[in-house]
Amino acid sequence: MDTIDRNLSEEQRLMRASCRAFVDDFVAPFIRQNWQREWLMDPDARLPRGILEQADRIGVRTLGVPEEFGGVQLDQATEVRTFAIIAEEIARGDSGLADKLVQNWKVSVLLRNLAPRHLQERWFSRLMQDPGFLLAHCLTEPRGASDRWLPYNVPEAAMQTKAARKDGGWVIDGRKQFISNGYDAGLFVVYANTKAGVGMLQGTSSFLVPRDAPGLTVTRCNETIGGRFMNNGEIVFEDCRVPDDHLLVENDALGKAAIYFRPGKIIQAAKNLGVGTAAFERTSDYVQSYVQGGRILIKHQAVAVRLADMATRLAAVRALLGEAARAVDERAPEADQLCNMVKVFASEEVFTVCRHAMELHGGNGAMLDFGIEKLFRDASIFLHMDATADISRFKIVKSMFPRTAGAYAGPES
Ligand SMILES: Cc1cc2nc3c(=O)[nH]c(=O)nc-3n(C[C@H](O)[C@H](O)[C@H](O)COP(=O)(O)OP(=O)(O)OC[C@H]3O[C@@H](n4cnc5c(N)ncnc54)[C@H](O)[C@@H]3O)c2cc1C
Repeated sequence: MDTIDRNLSEEQRLMRASCRAFVDDFVAPFIRQNWQREWLMDPDARLPRGILEQADRIGVRTLGVPEEFGGVQLDQATEVRTFAIIAEEIARGDSGLADKLVQNWKVSVLLRNLAPRHLQERWFSRLMQDPGFLLAHCLTEPRGASDRWLPYNVPEAAMQTKAARKDGGWVIDGRKQFISNGYDAGLFVVYANTKAGVGMLQGTSSFLVPRDAPGLTVTRCNETIGGRFMNNGEIVFEDCRVPDDHLLVENDALGKAAIYFRPGKIIQAAKNLGVGTAAFERTSDYVQSYVQGGRILIKHQAVAVRLADMATRLAAVRALLGEAARAVDERAPEADQLCNMVKVFASEEVFTVCRHAMELHGGNGAMLDFGIEKLFRDASIFLHMDATADISRFKIVKSMFPRTAGAYAGPES
């Protein structure tokens, strides 16, 4: 039993065991035998539905859905830590599959906190009934993403996607890009500007938008470098109409989105750790069986030293992740800072771990059918998800020094 296990509850240990069996028995063999499949240019054909059905059977598809709607509601006191444990395990099998599933958990947490009860009933039951049902969360747009998180709470930086009241409901116009599950989600949470002339923290609202809402068009599936089993998409809203009760939060939606982003960043770092763990496991097996210069690779000291470096980086990520996840579960004041720290730290450390893995595999590391380059590609995506590395650092320093680093950098008024 390692230090990580010592901190797990019985429930967490059991969930991790069934998740690990799912990954080892279904996901990893599927990826090994079907390494070309992620390159199919038909997004619907990439991941067989059977994998999501199996995820459903072991109960990891609908984490975050309240028990009264048939979901697996975890112990609230340790929910975010449990999310991290399961996300890491799934990503150890496949990062894109993990992206697909965790988006459902994250949006479910948001829905159960912000959506009216009758809409929770409607959408949670759709999610429960259909193993292929996916949720998406749409903030990023062509002319704005990173600036959302800087001190620029000024009208110029507001969302270009707009929503206005009309005939007792809302009309949304604009476009969103780079959205996880954006290509195939059945329900979208969409952020739009609802108040001109104010900063985005005061003028952004969030809406539930069903896929079949008139005026919503999914315009493309992005072909990404990694995490390819999650279909990232672009969505256009033209005179898109939603009923009044589909408004989740009026005007201060970005502040309320912390309910999504805190667990979200923990899950992000945990998936990232799963990719790094897979790289370490594959590499430590390889260097103990592959012979070069008459000896297995690990006998060459330069190789052994690199392996130690990989292990140390992963242990550091795991330690910070545990600390940050606990802070979110306990609603500690420093939770926000720790979430950003672990997100950016994990993305850079795991990227390095995967580079070591490629180098230690030599030529094999560059071959698609060997599968190590896939982990490197998957790791590269984390640098950009949920804010870039630089913007994450801005957020950390902004929350530490709100009056100086946290104030708009434009001309003094
Ligand atoms: C696989 C994937 C999944 C994603 N899923 C989602 C999702 O589900 N929902 C969603 O809403 N978004 C999603 N995103 C979008 C993601 O959050 C953004 O890509 C990210 O926030 C960066 O925004 P951007 O691409 O517009 O980059 P930009 O903002 O254009 O940044 C480009 C570069 O400029 C820097 N930069 C930008 N502005 C500033 C500034 N003011 N000061 C200093 N440096 C700056 C950035 O750090 C970066 O290096 C996803 C992205 C990827 C790759």
